[in-house]
Amino acid sequence: MLIVPEALIASLVSPEDAFAAVEATFAAMARGDAYNFPVVREALGEGRQYGFKSGLDRAGKQLGVKAGGYFPGNAEKGMINHQSSVFLFDPDTGRPVAMVGGNLLTALRTAAASAVSIDRLARGDAKVLGIVGAGHQAGFQLRAAARARRFERVIGWNLHPEMLPRLGAVAADLGLPFESVELPRMREADVIVTITSSPAASLMAEHVSPGTHLACMGTDTKGKQEVEPALLAKASVFTDEVAQSVTIGEAQHAVAAGALSEADIVAVGQVLIGAHPGRRSAEEITVFDGTGVGLQDLAVAAVAVARARERGMGMEVGV
Ligand code: NAD
Repeated sequence: MLIVPEALIASLVSPEDAFAAVEATFAAMARGDAYNFPVVREALGEGRQYGFKSGLDRAGKQLGVKAGGYFPGNAEKGMINHQSSVFLFDPDTGRPVAMVGGNLLTALRTAAASAVSIDRLARGDAKVLGIVGAGHQAGFQLRAAARARRFERVIGWNLHPEMLPRLGAVAADLGLPFESVELPRMREADVIVTITSSPAASLMAEHVSPGTHLACMGTDTKGKQEVEPALLAKASVFTDEVAQSVTIGEAQHAVAAGALSEADIVAVGQVLIGAHPGRRSAEEITVFDGTGVGLQDLAVAAVAVARARERGMGMEVGV
């Protein structure tokens, strides 16, 4: 099996690779060629979370699991709090194929998912990008969004405003003006990406203008929440996987409140394969509930493994 350590990932997988891999994965899920296994997630105590996201892509011949979690003490030790590794197996024999560092891959595949949703669901004339959140993942989301539309400026809000200058620096790197705003000014945005670990809604329905596309990416477990359920109730809601959306995604709250039904939520893969038209009008609010599926992790890890093999990188070990 090939070991591809974290340190090699940046030289092996680009944001464009991640976009293509995630788009293909969502399409394979919609065709019924690929499916995710139930997510396992356990609280380890002292704020630590650990879990497994796994799946099988029959068409892409991927079988595997991402093992990882959240370790809040890591920052003090000079490491990022989210840590993960991806393990790939031969779907015909079950033999291990590769172990791949999963930290940067997680950031890239999450940013790619929101970018796929912007590419397919945002208005073509979107000019203003709003970002709610300014943590580790936010800059990746901004960079990926900027590839999907020709934004003219970026506005950002974060509960902890001292974190916003780092996001502003990413915008500057992309040549985009950046302004810190209060939440009501999110009405100026044509596309809003939410990427926080908030336990309660920050963004309210009154903060969002008609015609906006939202990519809600922060809520990936029970008990997190970024937007008011009333916003989902009046929007067309899309997701990576409906089963995750209603249990661990942003839609869990609107569904529990009876403001949205599971049957109203559309897998974005349906849009990708032409089975759903996507956005229907310039006034419609569209929401992508990005919960993060194991097949995304397998898809980007497979790119890393293929590139590493082509270039003779990584470490081959016997099994
Ligand atoms: P981070 O810890 O680096 O940043 C957390 C962000 O949330 C910061 O902007 C912080 O100010 C904000 N925040 C914290 N408490 C808040 C509160 N009470 N109200 C509003 N905002 C609050 O985390 P990150 O790596 O940037 O990830 C952000 C979120 O995205 C996390 O919840 C993470 O689990 C989730 N995530 C989702 C996916 C997915 O596939 N959907 C993938 C990776 C990360």
